Amino acid sequence: MTANPTRVLVLNSGSSSVKYQLLDMADGARLAVGLVERIGEETSRLAHTPLATGGAKRETEAPIADHEAALKAVARELAADGLGLDSPELAAIGHRVVHGGQKFTAPTVITDEVVAEIERLIPVAPLHNPANITGIRTAQALRPDLPQVAVFDTAFHTTMPESAARYAIDVETADAHRIRRYGFHGTSHAYVSRETAKLLGKDPSEVNVIVLHLGNGASASAVRGGRCVDTSMGLTPLEGLVMGTRSGDIDPAVIFHLARNGGMSIDEIDSLLNKKSGLIGLCGDNDMREIRRRIDEGDERAALAFDVYVHRLKKYIGAYYAVLGKVDAVAFTAGVGENAAPVREAAVAGLEELGLAVDAGLNAVRADEPRLISPEYARVAVAVVPTDEELEIATQAYALVSA
Ligand code: ADP
Repeated sequence: MTANPTRVLVLNSGSSSVKYQLLDMADGARLAVGLVERIGEETSRLAHTPLATGGAKRETEAPIADHEAALKAVARELAADGLGLDSPELAAIGHRVVHGGQKFTAPTVITDEVVAEIERLIPVAPLHNPANITGIRTAQALRPDLPQVAVFDTAFHTTMPESAARYAIDVETADAHRIRRYGFHGTSHAYVSRETAKLLGKDPSEVNVIVLHLGNGASASAVRGGRCVDTSMGLTPLEGLVMGTRSGDIDPAVIFHLARNGGMSIDEIDSLLNKKSGLIGLCGDNDMREIRRRIDEGDERAALAFDVYVHRLKKYIGAYYAVLGKVDAVAFTAGVGENAAPVREAAVAGLEELGLAVDAGLNAVRADEPRLISPEYARVAVAVVPTDEELEIATQAYALVSA
């Protein structure tokens, strides 16, 4: 038996998928990673890699009816490597929960009241919170004795001042419907802003950072001394930057126009703005690699998509520069931010007067480590800082249960 269990299972339950990682917080080692996809379909797939044993990735394709079956299948895979859910070395299960509203400002040990509050937030997170609750309930049934911790995507942003969190609409209407700017990707913004401070050899409390999380979903945040003061996503992840399939900022009157004059229903407009806009709407592709390839071949639609994407990004860098007043670093992260050198170069181009520049040689280097890509003379550091949301969730969950 282990006196002090140090392992944390991180679960990220989506509507039809479960991503998981088992980490040992004694040394931060990843013991196993995996994914169950297409839950509820005939073609469900489970991919499991037992890193602890150095074993090869195991893939199974067989129907998995629901999240309970998915989690049981995950538990079987883990048990096959001696890492089962019944292990006394497991300290907690950390759940990524997308929407924590205003109430959850920190990771929280899950009780029935906590689940009830996550349920109350379903109207503002209809796609995500139900799946998160299913993941929690299923994990509780498998290990009722184990602490389960909710780590909220919104929590890091709850430090935003009212001036940033409020929409300028009628206050009573906003409050009656919980309409305000919550922000998302919070675990990533928290982790990356801290890692950026570390890269600069400073404490997070000493630096102001603009974090650009550019994945398929994308968001920017302004972080002053370790606390978020503004972020680009709002009531939902639709607001802000141009994303893979989401429009980001748009005149709300576009919606009235499409409903009144375009003959579209609210659901159709919802789908247009969330799934058929952004890069994919502009050029038919949402993968930045493919867009760059098309640009190299002279494709004008791809070039337009890239330009709109970068223009919005640059606007947010400028806006958050003004919000912060003084900026120590701009950090790029997630799939596009970590890999797409042309996006980084274009987003910062022309901002020398603000102390921002990218060194072409450093920008071209590929690495998994946090690194600076600005020239030495630049007043503001520009950094590439790989995000690690699972490690952040495990760290937060473990800190809570081992305190
Ligand atoms: P998610 O938001 O799904 O977590 P990721 O952070 O993994 O997304 O980012 C996925 C996106 O990253 C892809 O859609 C693609 O546009 C981009 N991407 C991944 N690898 C590269 C690369 N080598 N070069 C350019 N873009 C990349």
